[in-house]
Amino acid sequence: MEFCPDCGAMLLPKEGKLQCSCGYVKDLSDNNAYEVSKKVEAEETVKMMGEDVDVGPVTNETCPECGHDKATYKLLQTRSADEAPTRIFTCTKCKHTWRAYD
Ligand SMILES: [Zn+2]
Ligand SMILES: [Zn+2]
Repeated sequence: MEFCPDCGAMLLPKEGKLQCSCGYVKDLSDNNAYEVSKKVEAEETVKMMGEDVDVGPVTNETCPECGHDKATYKLLQTRSADEAPTRIFTCTKCKHTWRAYD
């Protein structure tokens, strides 16, 4: 129940608004819009790139373990846009993995 701030009489709902006999009108649609905007908060979505990709493209990278010159790689995107993505190499021969930073 709401009462008129001007005269204290009970407000009557009419056409989506609360009206008083004195002429005061409270617009309910404004109130609702405020409630909605309060609830809609930006949810941070973290994308994990390359998380479920086991085999990436093959590149001519020399394995530090066995000296093999072929390795697959994938990019590990960091959360910060300022940082370059980290490359993860996997030797196609011995499956040794190592990181490379640009
Ligand atoms: Zn009133
Ligand atoms: Zn290797």
